[in-house]
Amino acid sequence: MKLIDMHCDTILNCINSDGKIKLNRNDLCIDIRKLKRADSLGQLFALFVDLEKYNNPMDRCLYMIDGFYREIEENSEDIAFAGSIKELKKNRSEGKISAFLTVEEGGVLEGRLQNLRTLYKRGVRLITLTWNYPNCIGYPNFQWEHKDKGLTAFGVEVVAEMNRLGMLIDVSHLSDQGFYDAARLSKKPFVASHSDARTVVNHWRNLSDDMLKKLAEKGGVAGLNFEPEFLGEVGSVGAMVKHVIHMTNTAGIEAVAIGTDFDGCSPLTAITNIGDIHILVHALSKAGFSDEDIEKIMYRNAKRVIKDVLG
Ligand SMILES: [Zn+2]
Repeated sequence: MKLIDMHCDTILNCINSDGKIKLNRNDLCIDIRKLKRADSLGQLFALFVDLEKYNNPMDRCLYMIDGFYREIEENSEDIAFAGSIKELKKNRSEGKISAFLTVEEGGVLEGRLQNLRTLYKRGVRLITLTWNYPNCIGYPNFQWEHKDKGLTAFGVEVVAEMNRLGMLIDVSHLSDQGFYDAARLSKKPFVASHSDARTVVNHWRNLSDDMLKKLAEKGGVAGLNFEPEFLGEVGSVGAMVKHVIHMTNTAGIEAVAIGTDFDGCSPLTAITNIGDIHILVHALSKAGFSDEDIEKIMYRNAKRVIKDVLG
């Protein structure tokens, strides 16, 4: 079955390895061979910038964008950049996986909208508004500390400009109040690219039932995160199915997608790499999901939201 995975940290690992780890073939959870085995239509590659490590986060982000394109160019037989579903379809017709470029840490904007437009021009199509630190856009959900703090005045401008440009707003990691501000302000569907259900596991990184419903009302999706801490039950496939059942019962079958967090989360025993994603497909089928429903979760819902926002 085809797949769109909305979040992974693979490129960060490649860039930090000084050329030792390559996208084509590696021991990580994601490489091109494994993506092929998963019949990947598209992979969203996050560029994560640690604000505590870099004084000029925008510089670091641009450096990582260069690293991303170098990997894509080295593997141009198998993978190509996509900035829209139109481009994804073209890539697919040429037998290529689509690589979408995303940034995890809105703080790279350094409080300037021109940086947002620069990132768009360089191909970035989704920004995770915060990671685990407060930034120029808003506050994270980190140990519940900033739960009730919403978007900053700059964050409000960022939402409007991302809507105008046609970029996906990603609320994973964002505070609860920030989530509600984004939900209220965004004129387009938005996503929680890698977040699970809080009712199943009461973790600050997971979404409450009300948040799941708001996300669905807006036409957005939540991507199932494979991190054991968020899934519970040491990240078993059974735990994944539990979250999917709860999320689809709460928000509807149209609101759930996949956001593995591979190469950013601790590796699982049951699904250790993206090439084994069929294990989840079989488990969902055994749990009573129809093929049509499973297709929605594995790629159709993500594809719909990407098309609605990016074209
Ligand atoms: Zn993350």
